[in-house]
Amino acid sequence: MENFTADIVIIGSGPSGQKAAIQATKLGKKVIVVEREAAPGGACLFSGTIPSKTFREAVVDLTRFYERQFEGSDQIFPKVTIDELNKRLNSVIFEERNIIVRQFKKNNIQFIQGSARFENQNTLIVVDSDFRLKYQIKADYFIIATGSNPRNPSDVPFDREVILDSTTLLGIGKVPKSMIVLGGGVIGSEYASFFSALGTEVTVIDRKEHMLPMLDAEIGIHLQTALTDIGLKFKGKKEPIEIARHENHAYVRFKDGTALEADVLLYALGRTANVEALHLENTGIKVDPKGYIPVNALFQTNIPHIYAVGDVIGGPCLASTSMEQGRLAARHACGVQTHHFPTFYPIGIYTIPEISSCGYTEEELKSWGFHYEVGRAHFYEIARSHIAGSSSGLFKILFHSETLEILGIHVIGRNATEVVHIGQMAISLRAHLDYFIDHVFNYPTYAEGYRIAALNGVNKIKFKK
Ligand SMILES: Cc1cc2nc3c(=O)[nH]c(=O)nc-3n(C[C@H](O)[C@H](O)[C@H](O)COP(=O)(O)OP(=O)(O)OC[C@H]3O[C@@H](n4cnc5c(N)ncnc54)[C@H](O)[C@@H]3O)c2cc1C
Repeated sequence: MENFTADIVIIGSGPSGQKAAIQATKLGKKVIVVEREAAPGGACLFSGTIPSKTFREAVVDLTRFYERQFEGSDQIFPKVTIDELNKRLNSVIFEERNIIVRQFKKNNIQFIQGSARFENQNTLIVVDSDFRLKYQIKADYFIIATGSNPRNPSDVPFDREVILDSTTLLGIGKVPKSMIVLGGGVIGSEYASFFSALGTEVTVIDRKEHMLPMLDAEIGIHLQTALTDIGLKFKGKKEPIEIARHENHAYVRFKDGTALEADVLLYALGRTANVEALHLENTGIKVDPKGYIPVNALFQTNIPHIYAVGDVIGGPCLASTSMEQGRLAARHACGVQTHHFPTFYPIGIYTIPEISSCGYTEEELKSWGFHYEVGRAHFYEIARSHIAGSSSGLFKILFHSETLEILGIHVIGRNATEVVHIGQMAISLRAHLDYFIDHVFNYPTYAEGYRIAALNGVNKIKFKK
């Protein structure tokens, strides 16, 4: 067994581990990253954000999705094969992986492959895939960035062919004719929309009444309509009691006595934190009832020199937020000035159409008794949308009806995940609605939606007076 020492050891090389490592080396620390896979990148690169977003982009491009608006929905569009989609996926993963490897090299970050577990509060043991002891590493600080995996309950017969999770879905051999998606959360809804756009008959099932129930309700309704338009079916208030493979089909029986069959089933009901291999019992760190590692606002566990960041600490479980958590934890461990995690950050959901929001929902403002008003801009009012063949969508700005302070931005439609950052800045800088009215925007752009929505909102206030 080889021995190493470091100032900071980071376990896991997903977005949170990468940003923690880079920040700590920039601050002059000796950093080791331990990763059980052969290459750095984490679930984000190999099975999560990057493959799913590449898949989406490839579906939109290869099916010439936005041309439907010009050509009519009865137009025959190209049939896309899994090989064409995989070609894109592999090339993007390859490029992104190389960037991470280069960043690690450039910053002198030592990368060690193996599965890490704690021997005590200051010592890690790294084992290979056959559980042979390879390295012992002693350090002053540790950052746990081990992420999460799809939840695979033991009574679901996952088989990598027909009954799939979001990781094994990426290995299917052909575009299925039909698909059941269990779970109308972010991952389920995204993949359901991608396969619908490919022409697969998709049925999404959820216990809740609507898909993505955490969204501002108006945006949620808009999404459901848009998805129905591309052929997706949603069945809410349904509980699966049996999931099985019948020959080459997936079969699901529900509590209400109904059943469904399809070529494949995507099980998208939650994820579990990767904590088991860590032997946390040797450190005194206890996980919460859901299996996540509790941390304080500075991302310290109950053992102050051991931090935890990213999916392993629970929501919001995004690559974007994980990166910032990793950077902040590393700064604190290095003893330099840091700040608390921002109160307002955007959420991006890459369904087709995509959604993004920042700040409060209308339902939240209503429940707190806020005096608020709403400004709306429909995409059919925005010239850029017509030019690009995507005239379905909505900008919704929530603002204080007396002070005009912007309280929430919700966008559904093309480029939503990009334009939301204008609204995010407005909310963070406590801007008022007049900003969007008194400034000139490029024309034609999607961002013009802010101006149209602001004018719509301010006119309502004037009218009330
Ligand atoms: C299908 C899908 C789509 C998504 N889309 C988006 C999106 O569009 N935008 C967004 O912001 N987020 C998205 N996410 C979420 C995002 O991928 C995760 O939030 C992010 O990957 C979490 O980063 P992380 O650093 O915590 O962990 P991960 O990326 O999960 O990386 C953790 C790493 O730790 C390693 N590891 C685990 N245990 C050990 C151990 N004991 N020893 C050594 N190494 C270990 C793992 O091998 C892994 O490489 C998506 C997720 C999925 C599944």
